[in-house]
Amino acid sequence: MDNLALACQGCNGHKYTKTKGYDPASGEVVPLYHLSRQKWHEHFRWNDDFTLIVGLISIGRATIETLHLSREGLVNLRRVLYAMGEHPPQENM
Ligand SMILES: [Zn+2]
Repeated sequence: MDNLALACQGCNGHKYTKTKGYDPASGEVVPLYHLSRQKWHEHFRWNDDFTLIVGLISIGRATIETLHLSREGLVNLRRVLYAMGEHPPQENM
């Protein structure tokens, strides 16, 4: 129960039961970002066109890597939602 978070099927499938991930920048295995315990903007930011999430620290980078948050389908979805005024989410600004 402690590891539950609302996620799309794609992200959920990549996360599976993992609570740790590999940070490609440092080579460390670190805990994944915890949605209810940690602040998004301390771990991530958007790139200039809001299509990619950028990891600011190891937990952010490991979460992006583990959940494959830069996969093509998500990038395309963010591009369309941004054009519709529906992205980025307000809490992530
Ligand atoms: Zn997702």
